[in-house]
Amino acid sequence: MISRPGALATYENDGFLAKARPLAVCLPTSTAQVANVLRLAAAHELPVTPRGAGTGLSGGATPVGGGLVVATSRMNRILEIDPENHRAVVQPGVVNLEVSKATEPHGLYFVPDPSSQSASTIGGNVAENAGGPHCLAYGVTTNHILAMEVVLADGTVTMLGAFPGGADAPGYDLPGLVTGSEGNLAFVTAVTVRLLTRAEAVRTLLALFSSVQAAGVATTAVIAAGVVPAALELIDGTAIGALRQSGFTDYPAGVEAVLLVEVEGLEEHAAGEATQVRSILLEHGAQEVRLAATATERARLWAGRKSALGAFGRLAPNYYIQDGVVPRSRLVEVLTQVQEIARREQLLIANVFHAGDGNLHPTILYDARRPRLTERVIEAGAEILRCCVEAGGTLSGEHGVGLEKQAYLDWVLSPADQAAQRTLKRVFDPALRLNPGKPFSGPLPARMNRAQ
Ligand SMILES: Cc1cc2nc3c(=O)[nH]c(=O)nc-3n(C[C@H](O)[C@H](O)[C@H](O)COP(=O)(O)OP(=O)(O)OC[C@H]3O[C@@H](n4cnc5c(N)ncnc54)[C@H](O)[C@@H]3O)c2cc1C
Repeated sequence: MISRPGALATYENDGFLAKARPLAVCLPTSTAQVANVLRLAAAHELPVTPRGAGTGLSGGATPVGGGLVVATSRMNRILEIDPENHRAVVQPGVVNLEVSKATEPHGLYFVPDPSSQSASTIGGNVAENAGGPHCLAYGVTTNHILAMEVVLADGTVTMLGAFPGGADAPGYDLPGLVTGSEGNLAFVTAVTVRLLTRAEAVRTLLALFSSVQAAGVATTAVIAAGVVPAALELIDGTAIGALRQSGFTDYPAGVEAVLLVEVEGLEEHAAGEATQVRSILLEHGAQEVRLAATATERARLWAGRKSALGAFGRLAPNYYIQDGVVPRSRLVEVLTQVQEIARREQLLIANVFHAGDGNLHPTILYDARRPRLTERVIEAGAEILRCCVEAGGTLSGEHGVGLEKQAYLDWVLSPADQAAQRTLKRVFDPALRLNPGKPFSGPLPARMNRAQ
């Protein structure tokens, strides 16, 4: 346990702006210890906030209710690899990339690859239903979870889904329910993940464009042609500038946007699809389409893509990243609106996002030390999300609602919709003890708010 005030500071927030200090932090190593902590917390009416690596971007792991943070950094063991059945059982604190590294000798890997995959944990990925560049063709985290073990708010340990070795279990799709529940319904203590075999062949294309809009048009055209690449990412000129300053010079200077497109499958299929995608991109405005010639070149392109948020530090000390979703047919329109908001508010906004999924990440780059700028940045972020919703999209593709977007829930959910979600929360956690202050948790009970 950690209770020294200085050490608690590490656990006050994630990648979102809000902060709150817990009473203490517990670092359990086993399911039994998590269950004990939750039972004790229940007996003492203390809130509990689950925490993985704290890379979340919506304030999900921020302990606004005070009480205990229960962090999974010591629950970081891969419990079993089952190559014959293409699955592994892992503790929640295992870092995403470690699953693929450990299963690589069997020719297997875990598909969801958030750009934070070298730091974020499987427990955090499950709670946020994380996506990643390669989720376009294969689906997000929920499509790769077979079963899980959880501890309920009262300390009960229970298995959801086909845990540990069987086929599909009877009953409701509870792994599906808990995946994406943002740490509000149950504490995840073990996860059975689905593993896939690596494709025989991969082709990685980099298409250069003279505007973000042109790249948006080409994205829509690729998908409309019935091609679903393994990945289709858009990186704009501002982000390319930051990447080049950080040494990722495979991204060319002097272009306003690039699309990073990957196709894969059997050799003939990948080669044929790469040719088809190349033609579509050239027909729809690409100035040039480059093919990564070697595995090293491909790895450098992906390292750049996944380092973009860090590279923004070259341009400004702070960033505020949005996570709106739009129908792919409305991409160009919403990207133009984002540019208008940037111009009007005199804000620097960079775009690096999962274009194929219509999942935008306009990222406002700013200096939080400038008076009242943070408030303007938050308002601009809200306006961008509003544009996404008005275009028929939604508030979050992968970062979750957390603390950040609760004020906007009315834009997408009716009072009846929200009441149904709150009812569900109470079924799992009647005392509203797990991750209080988060969506559908209701107001904080008075005694819970005593730890500040
Ligand atoms: C540079 C960068 C790039 C990113 N790229 C992506 C991306 O491509 N795709 C994407 O989806 N996200 C991305 N993210 C956001 C973030 O990494 C993901 O949301 C990730 O899934 C969070 O994992 P974590 O271990 O850090 O969880 P935390 O931030 O610690 O927690 C996230 C939520 O999960 C809950 N939680 C954690 N562990 C458990 C558990 N064992 N049981 C129950 N609830 C739990 C917490 O209470 C909280 O609500 C990025 C973040 C950064 C900083």
